[in-house]
Amino acid sequence: MDTELETARTMIWRAADALDRGAPDRVKLCAMAKRVATDTGFSVANRAIQLHGGYGYLSEYGIEKVVRDLRVHQILEGSNEIMHLIVGRSLADGS
Ligand SMILES: Cc1cc2nc3c(=O)[nH]c(=O)nc-3n(C[C@H](O)[C@H](O)[C@H](O)COP(=O)(O)OP(=O)(O)OC[C@H]3O[C@@H](n4cnc5c(N)ncnc54)[C@H](O)[C@@H]3O)c2cc1C
Repeated sequence: MDTELETARTMIWRAADALDRGAPDRVKLCAMAKRVATDTGFSVANRAIQLHGGYGYLSEYGIEKVVRDLRVHQILEGSNEIMHLIVGRSLADGS
C-alpha cells in the first residue's frame, strides 16, 4: 500500500514539475496523475478498512470517513473517465 502511494506521489510531483515548466505534455501528465492518485488513494484506504475487519467499517475508527472522502475525488475536478479521455486524446495528438 505504501509503495502504491509513493508511486502516485511521484506522478503528482512529475506532473507538477511539467506544469511549472509549461512542458508540452503537461496536460497528459496532470490527467494521468489525477487519475492514478485518486484511484490509488481510494484503493489503499478501502484495503485499510479490510485490514481492520468489521471495526474498520465503524465510524468510531475513522477509516470509513477517509474512504468516503477519497471516493468523491474519483468524480470531482473532472471524473476519472474524463482523465482517460484526456490521456487518450493526448496520445492521438502525439503530445
Ligand atoms: C461533493 C461535491 C462537490 C462538488 N463541488 C463542485 C464545485 O465546487 N464546483 C463545480 O463546478 N462542481 C462541483 N461538483 C460537481 C463535479 O465537478 C461533477 O459532479 C463532476 O464534474 C462530474 O460531473 P457530473 O456529476 O455531471 O457527472 P456526469 O458528467 O453526468 O457523468 C456521469 C458519469 O458518466 C461518466 N462520463 C461522462 N461523460 C463521459 C464520457 N464522455 N466518457 C466516459 N464516461 C463519461 C462520468 O465519468 C461519470 O462517471 C461537485 C460534486 C460533488 C459530488
